[in-house]
Amino acid sequence: MSLRFNALTNLQTSCEPEPLQETKITAIFAENVFTHAVARQFLSDEAYKSLMGSVKAGQKIDRAMAAQIGNGIRAWAESKGVTHFTHWFQPLTGTTAEKHDSFFTLKSDGTPIEQFEGDALIQQEPDASSFPSGGLRATFEARGYTAWDPSSPAFIMDIGTGKTLCIPTIFVSYTGESLDYKAPLLKALEALNKAAVDVCNYFDRNVQRVTPTLGWEQEYFVVDEGLFNARPDLVMCGRTVFGHSPAKGQQLEDHYFGSIPERVYAFMRDFETESYRLGIPLRTRHNEVAPAQFECAPIYEEVNLAVDHNTLLMDIMTRVAARHKLRVLLHEKPFAGINGSGKHNNWSLATDTGVNLLAPGKTPKTNLMFLAFFVNAIKAVHDYDDLLRASIASASNDFRLGANEAPPAIISVFIGQYLTKVLQDVKERVGDKFDEQDESMLKIDIHRSIPELLMDNTDRNRTSPFAFTGNKFEFRAVGSSANCANAMTVLNTIMAETLKKFKKDVDALIEKGEKKEIAILHMIKQYIVGSEKILFEGNGYSEEWEKEAERRGLPNVKTAPLALDAMVTEKAKALFAHNKIYTHPELEARHEIELEKYIKKVQIEGRLMVELATTYVLPAAIHYQNKLVENIRGLKDIGVAEGVCEERTKLLNKISEHINQVSKLTVEMIEARKKCNAMENTREKAIAYCTEVKEAYYDRIRYHVDKLEQFVDDKEWYLPKYRELLFLR
Ligand code: ADP
Ligand code: MG
Repeated sequence: MSLRFNALTNLQTSCEPEPLQETKITAIFAENVFTHAVARQFLSDEAYKSLMGSVKAGQKIDRAMAAQIGNGIRAWAESKGVTHFTHWFQPLTGTTAEKHDSFFTLKSDGTPIEQFEGDALIQQEPDASSFPSGGLRATFEARGYTAWDPSSPAFIMDIGTGKTLCIPTIFVSYTGESLDYKAPLLKALEALNKAAVDVCNYFDRNVQRVTPTLGWEQEYFVVDEGLFNARPDLVMCGRTVFGHSPAKGQQLEDHYFGSIPERVYAFMRDFETESYRLGIPLRTRHNEVAPAQFECAPIYEEVNLAVDHNTLLMDIMTRVAARHKLRVLLHEKPFAGINGSGKHNNWSLATDTGVNLLAPGKTPKTNLMFLAFFVNAIKAVHDYDDLLRASIASASNDFRLGANEAPPAIISVFIGQYLTKVLQDVKERVGDKFDEQDESMLKIDIHRSIPELLMDNTDRNRTSPFAFTGNKFEFRAVGSSANCANAMTVLNTIMAETLKKFKKDVDALIEKGEKKEIAILHMIKQYIVGSEKILFEGNGYSEEWEKEAERRGLPNVKTAPLALDAMVTEKAKALFAHNKIYTHPELEARHEIELEKYIKKVQIEGRLMVELATTYVLPAAIHYQNKLVENIRGLKDIGVAEGVCEERTKLLNKISEHINQVSKLTVEMIEARKKCNAMENTREKAIAYCTEVKEAYYDRIRYHVDKLEQFVDDKEWYLPKYRELLFLR
């Protein structure tokens, strides 16, 4: 029996979800995290102070203190039955990595002891050669090491087998080039902090620290494990390369906010519980637009922690799904013809005085501060839209952005009617000269036109890739499988750069003798004028917008290999060097890694497509073709009327034609791939894979395979069908 029918038979019997334990979230929240409260308990005053100094103000922890902290963390972990530890890091492969070591060791005289030295906490040397480096290690030094990030707390992972103490770390080469997502992110957050504090101090001298915040919304699909295993494309690529649309797709939209199916609900409750134990503050869960699609979102946190929590969550979901004989699909487009999955990145800036800089204020002064940050954000997106586009570019996100089903790959900003009006006012009324009108704008008008509770007032444009939603911006083009760090590194860096420039511009006016507030207002006006072409309030999914965007000169780069070019322009190099995020070689290396990832993805998909077509689709189709031939011959033999045979023959001809096309096109695609493989230049190779393999063949082969699926006897079809994957649970 084929895997498909096996899975279908087992579906009914396989899953009796265990009854859920009702526990209060507060009773288990962060029980597996080395929180500040736990640190207080397990560390000496001195060690605790040193740790907090590092967490809150980025101060260095010296060796002696690190040894003490290491001991404290081990004592805590051991009290929870942990025997192993690992440096947990986020290499550029896109998943997380860890190498487990035991606390157990032998003293020089052979006495067995358990220990966790400060050195083991601070630094480790994983086998770096298996992670992508874009040639960096070849150029510099073969080794890489992981280094402790005290700003993200250690945690205990006990899902699956064993209990492991995980130390969040950055991953760098021996000579200091970053090889992961976290190292540049931490640098970007620091750059943003400095630049934002400087601008804040125009308004409030007490602000000493600005922390970017992130609340991600994770979309995903859930399918039955047996059915998943019967689809080699899901197993190998995370998406279906073939599959005819089911009769019932998402036309009815009855899934959204509908009740969550029992089996998925049990899974959700389970992974939420595990997430709470690890301190991930999940808040919402619901169905998404597509069948079998869901979403969860936490309460927002400081960016670095939020990023760690998101990568951790993706890992937890995958592990917990196995308990329920389910599979989570984090791919951006697992199924053609129905909605893809994204990961909205809600982003804002918080001061250590408790102010959200992207929330309208209560007084004219705080509203001017809001306006300054708000307009700087728009300007940043305007000036570096190509980099934002590059930050979300991947082979899998290409199926979701700029493909034939919306959204397009154009970056624009939506701000809603109130703020559109405010910016318009500032633009029209603030003249080139400095006059009394400015004072009235400052004191009354701006304030009056910005409703305090904008959050409830903003109209929600769901089609904008970068939307202001009342007290935060929402970067929606990020892919569901992506590490948010990449988008967050770019967003915070371009914001830092823009704020620095703003400060310089305002200072120049002040030096000329302008009053501070007036100078700020005038710069805001200039920034509005200079960046208004990025603002768009209409339907971002419409064809008119693509044309309009082109008229405005906004880039619409549809494929990843080309979008990635923006990473290595002179402008990008200057930006990242200036803000000390990436050196030029680091940037070049990252560009190379992204291109290599793209090539590998398309390579694997292309191979798999051929394999599936040849060993799954064609045998079934040919078998059915033979049956038809037999049938027609038989009908003719017994002298059935011509008309009957004619219909059969038509069907046979159709099927034969699709079989021929699949055979022919797969052979051609193999040839095309060979040509690509022979190419030396990585960028050219990626582009060729995109146009000569993916664009030239994927849809065409799929078209014929999906036709065959419609004709061939259902009993003979090996691959689980869309209707089974999407509707059976
Ligand atoms: P939606 O209507 O888009 O579902 P919500 O208002 O429920 O939006 O919020 C979505 C996400 O935005 C949540 O993850 C939430 O934590 C996050 N969020 C709210 N305020 C902020 C903020 N100041 N900074 C960052 N993220 C935020
Ligand atoms: Mg949202």
